[in-house]
Amino acid sequence: MTETSYRIDGATGAWEVVIGLEVHAQVTSQAKLFSGAATAFGAEPNTQVSLVDAAMPGMLPVPNRECIRQAVRTGMAIDAQINRWSRFDRKNYFYADLPQGYQISQLYHPLVGEGHVDVAPDEKQPDGIKRIGVERIHVEQDAGKLMHDQHPTRSYVDLNRSGVALMEIVSRPDMRSPAEAGAYLRKLRSLLRYVGSCDGNMEEGSMRADVNVSVRRPGGELGTRTETKNVNSVRFVMAAIEHEARRQVDLIEGGGRVEQETRLFDPDRGVTRSMRSKEDAHDYRYFPDPDLLPLELDEAFLADCRASLPELPDAKRRRYEAAGVTPYNAGVLTAEVETARWFDALLAAGAPAGPASNWVTGELFGALNRSGKGIEESPVSPAQAAELLALVVDGTLSGSLAKQVFELMLETGEGAVALVEARGLKQTSDTGAIEAVIADVLAKNPGQLEQYRAGKQALFGFFVGQTMKAMGGKANPAVVNELLRTALG
Ligand code: ADP
Ligand code: MG
Repeated sequence: MTETSYRIDGATGAWEVVIGLEVHAQVTSQAKLFSGAATAFGAEPNTQVSLVDAAMPGMLPVPNRECIRQAVRTGMAIDAQINRWSRFDRKNYFYADLPQGYQISQLYHPLVGEGHVDVAPDEKQPDGIKRIGVERIHVEQDAGKLMHDQHPTRSYVDLNRSGVALMEIVSRPDMRSPAEAGAYLRKLRSLLRYVGSCDGNMEEGSMRADVNVSVRRPGGELGTRTETKNVNSVRFVMAAIEHEARRQVDLIEGGGRVEQETRLFDPDRGVTRSMRSKEDAHDYRYFPDPDLLPLELDEAFLADCRASLPELPDAKRRRYEAAGVTPYNAGVLTAEVETARWFDALLAAGAPAGPASNWVTGELFGALNRSGKGIEESPVSPAQAAELLALVVDGTLSGSLAKQVFELMLETGEGAVALVEARGLKQTSDTGAIEAVIADVLAKNPGQLEQYRAGKQALFGFFVGQTMKAMGGKANPAVVNELLRTALG
């Protein structure tokens, strides 16, 4: 386990920051938590609202099996305890985007208990793992959305989101730097996307974080925390922590006290502002929802959830490393599920793991960056890439020829073998041809030859370069080196 060295320099000495994150993740499911209404993003306001979501009198909620399944699968992915018995509670409050007058959530008996997420806060050190505890995951309903920008004097409400299933993933206060919090969020997002239980799309609000921050003397007692609500990007979470920790240190050192309060992050100014203090903290009068039976999960359901889990990023990373991929590349290839899927397809097509990983993270990523495409829209398929890599492995293509062939594949859409045949791009180990070119090179460069013979060893590279150039890059570099050594005596 790695320990962070992140410290805040105060006027009176060093301070440590303590961070706990509550992440709201929208469950991927066709229908809402307790109704059959659709959940698609971007629909016209109030077109995905059932009578349950609009809280018409007498409507009864019915749990959606798929939403529960997704939350259980997520719990399993973070090695958490799955509670066979859980229960829904009402969290009562009045707000215009909440027609029920309460949110159905799980306070006392959450679906998922203790688990953990292993993160690598420094991507240059993929083996520097820190374990972040997760206290619980519970499921709850989302609220609707108020729209204040549609009319000069009126506000409107859109209930499309009302009743959509959320997972609230509550971490332990285990993070000690903005980098660790960023790494935790990225890892969590990656896990959710591998599992397929949330699309992790922070811009569309499918994942947002409440950021709890306190400061203390290194290793001392926990300080009073503030909670910055609804931060919707990894970068903003890190910026909010940085600002909030500094603010708390300045406040304490100036003789003040941190108030436990809810704050908001202003991304334009990079600061947090007070939203409401503990004095007006809500009393939600939680009580068990009388309309819903407790959830009881049977063995068959749990077994089905477990069997449906894909290979997860940590296991995948270990598998790649065992097959000869460097730890750094293995980290890069498993960070996003799309990349890992593509790489797995490349391996399945017969490509050797080590060279394939270098090629994907170098050549393919370069080409994708230049064209602004994601790997799922890659202009070459895993099978086509495997064909190219096979030509490198069997010595038909040198590294530089493989680059040329890849460029041609991108231009023409043709396969590597066909291109090599049609354009005569094979690497040659034909000693006779190479010897003839070497003789020519030596004859044309008598000055360099004299200096080399007089002891200027560095000129060897010059002759290699000239020979390769004269052969249009197609000579096998190892053979050129060997023949040059003989020729130069
Ligand atoms: P609540 O129920 O009031 O939201 P919890 O005790 O459940 O409070 O904690 C909510 C979040 O705050 C958790 O993610 C937890 O890790 C974090 N947290 C708790 N105490 C601290 C602290 N002193 N500093 C930073 N984060 C904290
Ligand atoms: Mg909370």
